[in-house]
Amino acid sequence: MSATQTFLDELQSYVGKRYGVVYSWDCVNEPMIRQWCEALDFDFIPYTDLLKAVSTAHRGIVAPAAMLPVWLMPGLRNQRPDGSDLSNNREIMPFLEQHGYVGILGTNCEQEYERPLRPGERISCTHMTESLSEEKQTKFGKGFFITFLQEFFDAQDQLVGTMRLRILRFKPQAQTKVEESVAKPLPAQPVLSPDTAFFWEGLKAGKLLIQRCQSCQVLQHPPVPACMSCHSLSTDFVESSGMGHLVSFVVIHKPQVVGFEYPHPVGLIELDEGVRLVAPIGGVSLDKLQIGMRVKAHMEPNADAYRLPTFYVVEGH
Ligand code: ZN
Repeated sequence: MSATQTFLDELQSYVGKRYGVVYSWDCVNEPMIRQWCEALDFDFIPYTDLLKAVSTAHRGIVAPAAMLPVWLMPGLRNQRPDGSDLSNNREIMPFLEQHGYVGILGTNCEQEYERPLRPGERISCTHMTESLSEEKQTKFGKGFFITFLQEFFDAQDQLVGTMRLRILRFKPQAQTKVEESVAKPLPAQPVLSPDTAFFWEGLKAGKLLIQRCQSCQVLQHPPVPACMSCHSLSTDFVESSGMGHLVSFVVIHKPQVVGFEYPHPVGLIELDEGVRLVAPIGGVSLDKLQIGMRVKAHMEPNADAYRLPTFYVVEGH
């Protein structure tokens, strides 16, 4: 048997393997729901207003569906409650790394929800490497697309939701090729949809455009098919001044993906028009970054690729 076949057989042996139950540290709870909603600037009575929530169809507080994976996060100490399966449920990852597939790129994430979760419920989950593509040639290098399935259960072991995370693990193109190339590698490009095309095309034209509801005039970002306030399907957009302030930030060191320089500071920016977006921060030393700093967007008109604006700190903020 060839070395390649042995490698592929071992790689395949991880697919379909189910790992044991992992328990959540905390029950579904109102403080975490409130903080999550505040961080995302999300206002919806059944999530945050107990007195009014009882008279909605939910008859009380429910957790936002998209919080599903939040309940199973291990925390900063990366530990799990007693009784949890502590084995590495992504052991396919170090195996691929050992064989030179050191690049990693998240491609997409899909969540499905069976029912709303209520405060007091204890959620658990199991993990599985659900599927693996054949080796593919991508613009980043040769690699495998891997789908991880996480299934979430309530205290009666009934399925309450699933999350599929798809990633690409690849062997980065040989370094010499990158050095020979005059052009810098491009960052991964967005998939344009009828709802988002105006935003990306606007950036290429040097404009930061924000979706506006034509019925109630509310601004929202990111662009979606309907108004989140009045559900109208009639939307257009306005041009932002590009001015705003830093609400939060992170500095990404790893994993390093093609097309960005590291360490890579990324901010949550609140524009003066009132909407928030996530975008790179430039031109400031990392130890000077502070929440609340005034920032201004810079776009590159006629750029070679779709790129988010970079926000620069405005002096004397
Ligand atoms: Zn509206």
